[in-house]
Amino acid sequence: MRVVNINGVEICLFDNLYKTGIVNHCFTTRVGGISKNEFKSLNVSYSRGDNKCDVDENLKRVSNAVGFDKNKIVSGNQIHGTKILKVGYEHCNKNIEGFDGYITDKPNIVLCTFHADCVPLFFVDTVKKVIALSHSGWRGTANKMAQVTIEKMSELYGCKPQNILAGIGPSIGVCCFQIDEPVIEEFDNNISFAKEYIFDDKDYKGHYKADLWGINKRLIIESGVPEKNIEVTDMCTMCNENLFFSHRRMGKNRGSMAAYLSLKEF
Ligand SMILES: [Zn+2]
Repeated sequence: MRVVNINGVEICLFDNLYKTGIVNHCFTTRVGGISKNEFKSLNVSYSRGDNKCDVDENLKRVSNAVGFDKNKIVSGNQIHGTKILKVGYEHCNKNIEGFDGYITDKPNIVLCTFHADCVPLFFVDTVKKVIALSHSGWRGTANKMAQVTIEKMSELYGCKPQNILAGIGPSIGVCCFQIDEPVIEEFDNNISFAKEYIFDDKDYKGHYKADLWGINKRLIIESGVPEKNIEVTDMCTMCNENLFFSHRRMGKNRGSMAAYLSLKEF
C-alpha cells in the first residue's frame, strides 16, 4: 500500500487492486481538504457535525482524484455487525442503515465505509468482476467479518476464493491497539487462533495488544484466498497523527476517513 498525492489530496492505494485495472479505489487520509478544527482537513463524513459545504468540497476533491462518481456512493450507518448488503443502483445516494459490508457486480456504484481506527477490508474478484467492502473493527474481526464477506461473494455471485484479491487497509495497529480481558475473551470464544495475535503489552503490565491486521489476514487465508493475493497496510491510524483521524487518539471530536471501491465499466 502506498500514499499518493493527487492535486493536493493524499490517498492510500493498494498496488494489487490498482494493477487489476478494473476498479477505482482508495482509503482517504486527512490531508487535502478544507474542513477546519477537529475535522481538519479531509473529513468525508456528513454525520459528525462538520460543515456540509466543506464535506461537499472534500468529497468532490476525493472523487476527482480517484475517478469515481460521487452521486453513486452507497454508504450508511455502520453498527459493528456482520450484515452485508447486496447493492444495486437503487441504493446509491441513500443512507443505508445497519450494514457493515457492501457487495456488488454493478459497474460505477461506489461502495463506501467510514473508518477512524477500524479495519477496512477490500475484495475484488477479477474473474467474476465482483467487489466487496467491509468495516471490521475489533467486534467485526472477532465475528469473522472477513470470512462472512468472502462467503457472501461465493453465495451471491459464485466467486471462487482463488480469484479474489484482498486489501487490508489502515487502522489501529498492533503498536497501539491495547485490549483487556473481556475483548480477549471475545476473540478467544470465536477464533481458534486468536491467541497467536494477542501479545503482552510491555509498557502496561496486565494489558495486552492485538494485531487486527494479522487476524484478518489469517481469516482471509483460511477462507481459501491465496496469501499472495492479500496486501496488508503497515499504517497505524493512531500513530500517524498527521495522516489520519483516530478514534482512540481524538475521541468523538474528529472527522472520518473512508474506504471507496468501485468497479469500472467495460
Ligand atoms: Zn500505532
